[in-house]
Amino acid sequence: MTHVEALTCGVCGREFSPGEVTYTCPAHDGVGGSLDVRYEYDALAGAFDVPGTVEDLWAFAPLLPVDGEPVVSLGAGGTPLLDAPALSADLGVSVRVKDETGNPTGSSKDRGSAVAVTRARQRGRSVVSCASTGNAAASLAGYAARAGLDCRIFVPADLPEAKAVQPRVYGADVLAVEGDYEDASRVCHATATERGWYDCSAGVNPYMFEGKRTLGFELARDAADADWVAMAMGNGCSLAATWKGMAESDRLGLSDGTARFLGVQAEGASAIHDRFTDEWGDGAGETAADSIDVAAPHSAKRACCALADSGGDAVLVDDDAILRAQRRLGEHEGLFVEPASAATVAGVERALAAGVIDPADEVVVVATGTGLKDTRTAGRAAEGGRRVDVDSDPDTVPEF
Ligand SMILES: *Cc1c(COP(=O)(O)O)cnc(C)c1O
Ligand SMILES: [Zn+2]
Repeated sequence: MTHVEALTCGVCGREFSPGEVTYTCPAHDGVGGSLDVRYEYDALAGAFDVPGTVEDLWAFAPLLPVDGEPVVSLGAGGTPLLDAPALSADLGVSVRVKDETGNPTGSSKDRGSAVAVTRARQRGRSVVSCASTGNAAASLAGYAARAGLDCRIFVPADLPEAKAVQPRVYGADVLAVEGDYEDASRVCHATATERGWYDCSAGVNPYMFEGKRTLGFELARDAADADWVAMAMGNGCSLAATWKGMAESDRLGLSDGTARFLGVQAEGASAIHDRFTDEWGDGAGETAADSIDVAAPHSAKRACCALADSGGDAVLVDDDAILRAQRRLGEHEGLFVEPASAATVAGVERALAAGVIDPADEVVVVATGTGLKDTRTAGRAAEGGRRVDVDSDPDTVPEF
């Protein structure tokens, strides 16, 4: 049995039982009516503690909204928290990296997919779908394959090559939508609803969100001393869910206090930042950080609440700063992350300069996804790095 008490609408507060609704509040369909799962915290208070190392996110099963075994498992979660001495020295503040790149499909989206696909299977659904800028698609496809479910995903037609290939290797159907992520989302939800597929899209599916809380549980355990957690925001789900997990850990007495959250967005996709700071940009733009290239975020309100509740802040960074940060993570620490993840490091730099983060603070940046899926953009970050053409004669190798 689960410890779910109710699902509540983010707009009107109406409560539902888990069997009563599938996606959003019927009165507030679409953006804003996302359902938040509330647990029986009193029942969980004494009963829940994860000793030792976390092997994967199912270590937190009592706090997840699924009905026991069998769960779908590929080994998501339990990711390392790495110190980063050279990067810290470069930035002028103590930084550690929560390295999510080693998740089964290469991003933190696996935390949500594990829970949503388990829910799909327990409810007897045979087809799952989602709209995605790339990582959520690969992740859902991988977990669907593992669970023996069919998977249909909707992506913007111009997504990075590897992100279009990976789900197909997992056997998913990739529907490349002419247009941006918004268009893909619209087509996905309409089609899934009409054809009876289980839509796992961000902002629509409450179980996807709930799985992402496990990142917050891990940070609460392993980075209890952190003053700040820096995360990139696209839809804002990842940050909001991580904050929820951290706040729940505190409430359950599993940690002592919470960190402030720094939400980082690209200048070309700044909607959540603009709403939080009430500084409105021109609303149009582009960014090389495709995973956070979201014009109309599905969880803007939740992300803003998380930033406010944690006492945090939001900053914007430009693509040059993002690519420089990508190179710094690689060069200083041996971490190859994608641009959306590197944005957090650029954001910390920005927040330090603005006096938001103090040089004496302890900071954790979340590296949400691997750089290997977009080598074209990484090639821009690597410019200046040496590549020398050498013919087969060893004498032609230059001096270093
Ligand atoms: C999805 C994603 C994000 C942003 O998460 P949101 O929930 O959309 O805010 C950041 N980095 C990577 C690598 C992602 O895949
Ligand atoms: Zn409602």
